[in-house]
Parts: sequence; structure tokens; C-alpha cells
Amino acid sequence: MRIAIYPGSFDPVTYAHLDIARRATRIFDRVIMAVFDRPQKRLLFSTEERLRLLRAVTADMANVEATSYEMLTVEFARQVGACAIVRGLRAGSDFEAEFQMAQVNQTIEPSIEVVVLMAGRQYAHISSTAVREMASLGRDPVEFTPPVVIAALREKFAQRG
Ligand code: ADP
Repeated sequence: MRIAIYPGSFDPVTYAHLDIARRATRIFDRVIMAVFDRPQKRLLFSTEERLRLLRAVTADMANVEATSYEMLTVEFARQVGACAIVRGLRAGSDFEAEFQMAQVNQTIEPSIEVVVLMAGRQYAHISSTAVREMASLGRDPVEFTPPVVIAALREKFAQRG
């Protein structure tokens, strides 16, 4: 049984994230999408909200599950018996950060591989940032994220007024 974790902020989850997860299941028997509790970013959704949305949109995906974690990513990987950490890569701008993170993770835990999947052609332009920005300006990002996320965005921005 080859298990991989796919960690991220998922603030909120997008079709691009789901594409990476689905493709990762071609390589691994089980893919655990894992919401990182405290990324060094300003978040729109709480951990509970991000996890609820992730669970809702992965419910029908075979071999994909969702959870959250609060420790070092490699420690979480080891805890769940994963042999790899999956990440997605968009244009060059993602490379530096992903490369550096992979080096740090390899230093801490050399037995866990970092597997980077290139952005799918139809998904490369999608980002959680764009989703949040569009929603904040009153336009539903229906091309970027599933209906349950759109509903959560509407509710969030309605609350904020
Ligand atoms: P993080 O804060 O860890 O970067 P994100 O939720 O922004 O969390 O992204 C999680 C992972 O998904 C990252 O590896 C990111 O590069 C990848 N990713 C995000 N959007 C895309 C996309 N459009 N195509 C491919 N990979 C993506």
C-alpha cells in the first residue's frame, strides 16, 4: 500500500487541487489531502471550514481522503505511513519555494520523497488567491472551484458585508 500526503492551505480548495489529487492516485494507492492548520499566510477560511470543504469535494473520489494537521509536514507524513509528499507546480514562480521546501523536508526526513506534479493544462491559471479575489468582488468563480465552495464563499462575504 503506497500512501502519499498532499498538503496545502486549500484556502479554499480549487479544481486545480483536485486535478493534482486525482492524478496522484494514478501513482499512489491512497492520497491524503491534508489541510495545514497554520500556514504563514492570511487565511479566509478557518481550518474547520477548509477541511469541511475539502471533505465535501473529495467525497466521491476513490482513494482520496481529507484531514488536517498541526505538525511538521514530514512528521505528519511519517505518522500516517506515507512514502511521499505530493505538491503541484504552476509556472516558474512556484519553483523556488517548492524547491526550497523540498530540500528542507529531505533534510529532516530523507526517507520521504517529494513528488511534484506539473499543473494540468486546463488548471495552470487557477489559484486560491484568484478565487478569493473574484468572490470578494462579487463574481462567483464557477470555472475555478466546485459549487459547495462557491456557496461557502458567498456566505463568507455576505457575513463580511
Ligand atoms: P500552500 O500554501 O501549501 O502553497 P495551496 O493550497 O496554495 O497551499 O497549494 C497546495 C499545493 O497545490 C501547492 O503545491 C501548490 O503549488 C499546488 N497548486 C495550487 N494551485 C495549483 C495549480 N493551479 N496547478 C498545480 N498545482 C497547484
